[in-house]
Amino acid sequence: MTRFAERVLRDGCASAHALADDSGQSAPMAVCALTHDNALRVRFWGTRGSTPVSGPEFLRFGGNTPCVEIRCGKRLFVVDAGTGLPFFGASPEAELPSEIDILLSHFHLDHIGGLPFFKPAILDPGCTIHTWTGHLDGGDARDPLDRVFSPPTFPLQLDSLPARFVHHGFKAGEPLTFRDGMVVRTHPLNHPGGATAYRFDHGGRAVCYVSDLEHRDPWPDPGLAAFVQDADLVIYDGMFSSQEYQPCQGWGHSTWEKGVELCQAAGVKALAIFHLYPGHDDDLLLAREAEIQKVMPSAFIPCDRQAVAYHPICMRDSDSLADATGRLKVANG
Ligand SMILES: [Zn+2]
Ligand SMILES: [Zn+2]
Repeated sequence: MTRFAERVLRDGCASAHALADDSGQSAPMAVCALTHDNALRVRFWGTRGSTPVSGPEFLRFGGNTPCVEIRCGKRLFVVDAGTGLPFFGASPEAELPSEIDILLSHFHLDHIGGLPFFKPAILDPGCTIHTWTGHLDGGDARDPLDRVFSPPTFPLQLDSLPARFVHHGFKAGEPLTFRDGMVVRTHPLNHPGGATAYRFDHGGRAVCYVSDLEHRDPWPDPGLAAFVQDADLVIYDGMFSSQEYQPCQGWGHSTWEKGVELCQAAGVKALAIFHLYPGHDDDLLLAREAEIQKVMPSAFIPCDRQAVAYHPICMRDSDSLADATGRLKVANG
């Protein structure tokens, strides 16, 4: 087990991806304190694909479906609204602004099921929640969400909640420019009905969210490789191993091996295997993480609530953790 994995187990969260292997050698990238005001930060609130899981065999990695908090400095983005979203909303550390952007990969239930249980939506009439949708050829989320969240499948519609919802549609591949000038790049994904990948660039760092997708020839896909090029972290739909994949072909999901191939071809520094298969328990995932790290030592399988942070490369100050190359020294454990 790597030191990183040990620290995740001890703390329940970690301030970086893989730091050092068992030989004590540093991984290519190191880390910074989570508290740095201008860091690019990621927190995983749900990492499970398809359906949530619960039980003693899932305590370590968790069971909520996709939701990831991204902070570019203090600027918040939420990617996907799975069952992890309510836990983010209820967190005392959430520091939620009055306008919240939720970037949706697509509308499969595991990616939207937490939306009506998001605390600001239920309790804050002063909150505006913006949804962003890229896989409907410019269409937005209003009608699809109204179909899901309305009787008889749900007691009310989102518009009945105290918060105000504003829905935005775009075409995956277009960059998104937000009201404060922030820009997020997007890319279309191969998934039944389509899905959208997002790339967050901040302070010379980059984090990409690439789920859900199924790989296809040629691989690595040149467009996707260009999209994730040189990123510090790619969050990738590695639901299966290549051994498991055959009977699941066409379901719209990929393998951890294809994630490694993509990242290694594109100079990506770290890989988070995401959209975990509901049947994979803690023991299997721990063994799988060790297997993945044999070919990509900085790859990891994130746990619910785990956090990763990247210090801005361009910033140098008296208490900076960065060295001259922009690499970072290890923060307190
Ligand atoms: Zn999914
Ligand atoms: Zn899906």
